[in-house]
Amino acid sequence: MSLIIKNLHAETDGTEILKGLDLEIPRGEVHAIMGPNGSGKSTLAKVIAGHEDYTVTEGSVTMDGVDLSGLEVDERARAGLFLAFQYPAEVPGVSMANFLRAARQARLPEGEEIDAVAYYKELYEKMDLLGIDRKFTSRSVNEGFSGGEKKRNEVLQMMMLEPVYCVMDETDSGLDIDALKVVAEGVNAMRSPERGFLVITHYQRLLNYIEPDHVHVLAGGRIVRSGGKELAHELEAKGYDFLKEGELAPA
Ligand code: ADP
Ligand code: MG
Repeated sequence: MSLIIKNLHAETDGTEILKGLDLEIPRGEVHAIMGPNGSGKSTLAKVIAGHEDYTVTEGSVTMDGVDLSGLEVDERARAGLFLAFQYPAEVPGVSMANFLRAARQARLPEGEEIDAVAYYKELYEKMDLLGIDRKFTSRSVNEGFSGGEKKRNEVLQMMMLEPVYCVMDETDSGLDIDALKVVAEGVNAMRSPERGFLVITHYQRLLNYIEPDHVHVLAGGRIVRSGGKELAHELEAKGYDFLKEGELAPA
């Protein structure tokens, strides 16, 4: 049971961004992807989620054996995929409580209704854990939220939807150290043998709190190196410039 990415090529506006990317995330594992700006990290996240701006020209993404190419964005979500965006969209006019409730409802079988009392109890517990004030339930999704508030909100959605595979795109950016710890605690609480994580980050710092099983370096649209968590420390120490000097030959 894995999320398997094979020889993935994807383009947008006629420009190829992912150039033969291979990655396998078994349930139960946390994989981190690090890489310089513009290397294709967000593109990978959005292609996995089925974003309409990107076209897969070669290769495949399968989730527990299901080829995702035939599934729309919402079908992928119902199948257990979740993407926490690097730049979460604002949804004016839709309150957080209604948004989360609708997302939860959409995952239930036809004709089954959410238990409102249990839903709010769980929502408040998770908001408390993430340090999100309860007044946020009535605010429009992400509208006027600070960068850090948006990121916490992404994690709240992830916790409420209980996905099988979680893709987190730079959820650490915009968070101060206290918020980072809180968010990491939320993620760690979700770690389970039944769930896989792809954690995209620019900085090693996050990985002190969310300990990855594997670390991969993405550069030029491909995974150029994979290793354990020590690879993140090596990148932090050397910076990404050394990628350009050819020290990291494609594996
Ligand atoms: P990262 O997240 O690693 O910083 P991205 O995946 O956001 O990198 O971007 C990789 C490259 O693809 C960049 O050069 C970026 O400008 C380009 N790109 C990404 N999305 C689009 C798009 N929708 N339209 C045009 N270019 C894009
Ligand atoms: Mg990005």
